[in-house]
Amino acid sequence: MGARIPYGLLAVALLTSAGCRRAAEPAGPVKQSSLAMGTVVSVSVPAAGAADLRKAMAVARNTLLDLEETLSVYKPASEISRLNRAAGRHSVGLSPSTYEVLRAAKQYGELTSGAFDVTVSPLVALWGFRSGQPTAAPVSAGEVQAVLKQVGGEHLILGQRTAYLDREGLSVDLGGIAKGYAVDVVCQRLSAAGIGNVMVDLGGNIRCLGQAEAGRPWRVGVRNPFRRDAILGILQLTGDESVATSGNYERFVVIEGRRYSHIIDPHTGYPARGVAGVTVIASSATAADAAATGLFVLGLERGPAALRGMQRFVKGCAWVPDREPLEIHVTDGFARYFTPLAETAGRVVVLPPPAARQPPAGL
Ligand code: AMP
Ligand code: MG
Repeated sequence: MGARIPYGLLAVALLTSAGCRRAAEPAGPVKQSSLAMGTVVSVSVPAAGAADLRKAMAVARNTLLDLEETLSVYKPASEISRLNRAAGRHSVGLSPSTYEVLRAAKQYGELTSGAFDVTVSPLVALWGFRSGQPTAAPVSAGEVQAVLKQVGGEHLILGQRTAYLDREGLSVDLGGIAKGYAVDVVCQRLSAAGIGNVMVDLGGNIRCLGQAEAGRPWRVGVRNPFRRDAILGILQLTGDESVATSGNYERFVVIEGRRYSHIIDPHTGYPARGVAGVTVIASSATAADAAATGLFVLGLERGPAALRGMQRFVKGCAWVPDREPLEIHVTDGFARYFTPLAETAGRVVVLPPPAARQPPAGL
């Protein structure tokens, strides 16, 4: 028997805008929050543009409501639910946005050697991470092997604006990418509406446009995976940057006293272990979201090598291993944005650049 810790408002603390202002400094950004896509959405704009805040929030809420209707596995009429119901029988036509998310999902699946895999859904259900399941029961190796047969990115076949799951029992869950994608769509619409300085945070999936105040970057705190209200340090983001965190503290099940993360390794069928948190800085929120989930699975052993194939999108990554004492392993790209707190500075390990990690030819 085990207790299930629900996903919820905690998400807003995952990555939170942070900063302490001295009296003489200009007013910081102003922020509004609301609930959307099962989590908290926050929109921040510079104090000087406060008049835009209500409009920006309305754009965000309407966009998220629309996307939830098409992407959520919890909405029986959504395109993803229709795709899942048609598994092994027929393909379904998709709206451009749903098609785009599935195409991106397949791409990140390939870039992470299958560690990111939206067809992991039957395993997510097996391990008790579907809402409405109050407890998680022990899972046997036989059950895992049986359900693994219903998983594999190659079974999601995309046509021209269509998708098909080629076997009965397969299903798709966009929980690892949809929020990032939604943040990108919100930001496109805000830009189109002339709002160029804004930060959107949907449950820890963040995209920052422009700056927080004239000459000041947006500041985003990276949450300490071991201490609910603490951060490890601050990221300074400016222009157009995205950041996402995947963590094992956010949503997990406890089965017979052992904690299992909600991120599943699609190769083994078991919840990924070894990492407490991964934070990714990327050129889009979709990329940050998908890459953080995939790099959580790949961990410190396989993740840094996988980053080589993602250099076009991923600007930096940090892994916090799931062990004491605290260690923060960062790529040199991540280090350029990151200022650790004084008490965590001694815990930062900068990973060697990818080339230095490659063995010499012939070895
Ligand atoms: P995130 O918080 O973005 O890392 O997403 C985690 C969610 O993605 C889980 O709650 C599942 O719905 C789904 N998921 C779990 N494991 C994977 C995986 N290996 N690849 C893609 N999505 C996953
Ligand atoms: Mg993700």
